[in-house]
Amino acid sequence: MENFLLEYRDPLFGILVFLILVFIVSFFSYWWARYKKREEEEQLRRFFHKFEECADREILNIEQRGDTAGALLLLADAFERAGDFEKSIAIYLELSKKDYPNLGRIELLKRLGKVYFRAGFLEKSREIFVESLKLYPKDEDSLRYLMLIYERLRRFDKASQILESLEELGDFKRERDYFKLMEMIGNSEDPKKVVDFFKKSGVDQPRPLFEYLMKRNYGDWDAFSEDHLKRVADLLWRMDPEKIDYQKLKNTPFLKELFSARRVVSLCDGSDIFELDLLLALKRDVADLDFEYVCKECKNMFPFSFYRCPVCLAPRSPEVEMVITKKRGFDEESLSFQ
Ligand SMILES: [Zn+2]
Repeated sequence: MENFLLEYRDPLFGILVFLILVFIVSFFSYWWARYKKREEEEQLRRFFHKFEECADREILNIEQRGDTAGALLLLADAFERAGDFEKSIAIYLELSKKDYPNLGRIELLKRLGKVYFRAGFLEKSREIFVESLKLYPKDEDSLRYLMLIYERLRRFDKASQILESLEELGDFKRERDYFKLMEMIGNSEDPKKVVDFFKKSGVDQPRPLFEYLMKRNYGDWDAFSEDHLKRVADLLWRMDPEKIDYQKLKNTPFLKELFSARRVVSLCDGSDIFELDLLLALKRDVADLDFEYVCKECKNMFPFSFYRCPVCLAPRSPEVEMVITKKRGFDEESLSFQ
């Protein structure tokens, strides 16, 4: 007993006991921290699992299969949608260097052609689609894009030739009528002949025809329905009053409302269209209209007009949305001092 107490009083023994205690405490606190961390991660994993049901399966499959090409294609798509075409092109070129089991080279070639088309490199895009058609002459995608390229280059004769091949694959009457109309306008044919074609074909393109007729000082708007005129409201709002077809104006409620709101005539004091109603209710001429353009097919809105939607590529004049703005050049202070 005395011996034990002697050892107990030995400072080395004390230090040893202290170190053992420190080790035990550290050991348990380390494992406790690890256990808590694992538990938290497990809790988060269970939480994330709840959202997996509504997650995009395509992305989940890419991760599970380790599909590098699929991941890069999605990235290229995202860059393309964001307008960063250079990065998108770089990804496709990189992908073309290797063979991937789920990605054919022709598919890659077409994707590259579409990006060049969207980026405005029409010649490069044309080269790609011509190459693709050498391998697959009946490929609808390649034919369609080649047709669109010639349309952008104002080569309507070439576009119509390609359309003939496309018509073997489906119904492209809308495209044919549109090209015919644009060809007639491009050749500056007699406005009466163009109007006759417009009425007969029922082509859904009032905008290019209206612009053409205005340019040629053709003052008969009989070819246009009220719906057509609503779709050129911006052109009507800014046009020279001398070019107005007053006969059509008197017989068309929309024209009466629009030109009364513009204070060119005074034929009505209210409208079902909120913006025109507001302008008609104003005592002073302090407000103006601005316009936005909506594609009826894909519902995208643009600050500029078009004959073919830049997103879904449908050959259709847009719907015109009115926006009330302050009249430019109107100075409220100068009026209040008068
Ligand atoms: Zn569209």
